[in-house]
Amino acid sequence: MTTAAADIEIRDPATDEVVGRVAPAGPDEVDDAVGRAAGAAPDWARTDPAERAGRVREAASALRAEAEDLARLNETETGRPYDDGLGGVLAAAGTLEQYAELGPVHRGRSLQGSWSATDLMVPGPRGVVAAITPWNDPVAVAAGLIGAALVTGNTVVHKPSERCPHLGRRVADLLASFLPEGVLTVVDGAGPTGALLCAHEAVDLIAHVGSVAAGRAIAEAAVGTGAKVLLENGGNDPLIVDDGVDPRWAAEQAALGSYANGGQVCVSVERIYCHRGVADEFLAALAEEAGRWVYRPSTPGQKALGPLVDRRQREHVHSHVAEALAGGAVAHAGGELPTGPGAFYPATVLSGCTPEMRILREETFGPVAPVRVVESFEQGLAESVDDPHGLAATVLTPDMAHAQEAWRALPVGTVKVNAVFGGAPGGAAQPRGLSGSGFGYGPELLDEMTTTKVVHLEAAPPRR
Ligand code: NAD
Repeated sequence: MTTAAADIEIRDPATDEVVGRVAPAGPDEVDDAVGRAAGAAPDWARTDPAERAGRVREAASALRAEAEDLARLNETETGRPYDDGLGGVLAAAGTLEQYAELGPVHRGRSLQGSWSATDLMVPGPRGVVAAITPWNDPVAVAAGLIGAALVTGNTVVHKPSERCPHLGRRVADLLASFLPEGVLTVVDGAGPTGALLCAHEAVDLIAHVGSVAAGRAIAEAAVGTGAKVLLENGGNDPLIVDDGVDPRWAAEQAALGSYANGGQVCVSVERIYCHRGVADEFLAALAEEAGRWVYRPSTPGQKALGPLVDRRQREHVHSHVAEALAGGAVAHAGGELPTGPGAFYPATVLSGCTPEMRILREETFGPVAPVRVVESFEQGLAESVDDPHGLAATVLTPDMAHAQEAWRALPVGTVKVNAVFGGAPGGAAQPRGLSGSGFGYGPELLDEMTTTKVVHLEAAPPRR
């Protein structure tokens, strides 16, 4: 006899107050959700792409109308500052609208066969998509996977993060209210529920955005079922600060990359290689910048730093910092575990970090800027490259030859030169190494969500 798993308790990370509980879905609930998605799949696949897109477009408008409420719920469940959360919900609505435009024009190819034949490559839905998402940008990430799956004719079972289950369910229910029964269902729960979903034989594609460890477990589970796996995992993104850059400007960039959303962005700056020529001024300016990142900014120039998502995450972040300090690193700002309620952690600057420290080797996912001073641009680039992750990287340099060398050499999906964030709409990259595989964003996600059939039609069968 199996016993039901315990409820998951959600606490506001600013106050520690309990703000909700959910019961994780077990095997029966997961089986029911997948069964409903599989049952709805044939009709949804036959629905005109324009109608599918129209429903997704209506859902986007409804999401936009509820953006403020959803941003507040995002802040309550994960500590994400309201304005950042609002931006995430509006980005989600925009992504759904983009996929509503792109879905009906997503197309295959015609081939050049013999005169008497027609040869086509026709994309079609894969079937049932399991969309498994994280908490750090929960609405935008979920909308991307779900929107792309729906407009290409797939049905979806969504498992939002157990750290923001009420937000996840509310968004999924809102989208589902514009869709036929079973086309989008949601299951609550943490890793074990996700594992049940990934092991289900009727799931055709697992689209996961989350940590390296979960991505690895998901890939292993899919070996047993043959489901396609799309992984957008975590990273360990380097920032190279080259000689000759304005150290104050470089420090502003480094602070933004390290502290935005409490350092809990998949492409946060995770390790900094700073040329000795600018290191002293850069470190001093970065420590000053760190002081501007505060909870609830009240004066111009201050920037919002919420609590971390929960105390578990704070322990993880502080364990990296404490290990670095014990190994000889020096704190120029932060680095101490706050007392008092909540999961707050200060904007931290460390120098003297060395390659064997976890703070440089693993994703910290907190407001920490660990700096390693290097003797040359080449050393910074070589140490940046020497890492098994492959999500993104940034280079700050006035030297075009260095910029050129870096973007070619870095084995990552996204390289940014002279800005830690930014990029044109529609940009999509394939992460590498531990950071995953496949296009998790952009128009190319529609290709990932479809499967292509080659059709050969001979026009003239012999008649009797
Ligand atoms: P997580 O891996 O703990 O959880 C992500 C999702 O996977 C959750 O829904 C979780 O319940 C589920 N999950 C966990 N174990 C599972 C298993 N064995 N089988 C199936 N599902 C499982 O990640 P998180 O803490 O929610 O999110 C933060 C991580 O996500 C960071 O590593 C961050 O870099 C990464 N991330 C990556 C991107 C990207 O585009 N590459 C974007 C956002 C976040």
